[in-house]
Amino acid sequence: MTDWKSINWFDPAALISRHFSVHEALWLPKWGRLASAEDGLNDHVKEQLVRLADLMDEVRELLGVKVIVHCWYRPKRYNELTHGASGSAHQCEGDWAAIDFHVRFEGCEVPASCSRARAALLPKLAEIGLRMENNGPDAVWIHLDTRPPVHSRYFKP
Ligand SMILES: [Zn+2]
Repeated sequence: MTDWKSINWFDPAALISRHFSVHEALWLPKWGRLASAEDGLNDHVKEQLVRLADLMDEVRELLGVKVIVHCWYRPKRYNELTHGASGSAHQCEGDWAAIDFHVRFEGCEVPASCSRARAALLPKLAEIGLRMENNGPDAVWIHLDTRPPVHSRYFKP
């Protein structure tokens, strides 16, 4: 695992794992900037983001296509602004983090690509140590997180 203390979190291009960058983990589109310490980005959050990034490397390699990140860390205030679920795993309030992304397989539109990726990931969730949202066959994104499963690793939002 990448040592989260050795990462320059101010450099958007810095890698936090083999495949993922500070920009992907911290970019807040609606605010047009990276999340910062003032937003709650502390050592605990950084550690959770890197832990998920390592698992996302496995996901990336399992799927064999580029992962296009929509949203990773969401500070509490940002989560409220974007009407995220209260207590959303994207806020990294406990020992966990969450990511939303899409993939696109060649010759396959995004919704079908996401369905195909979900089907590929489903039998691997326990092995990799992830939960996945069952957000329906038409959803154009995949949500994965490192929160401990309550009933199932594949859960309804
Ligand atoms: Zn999500």
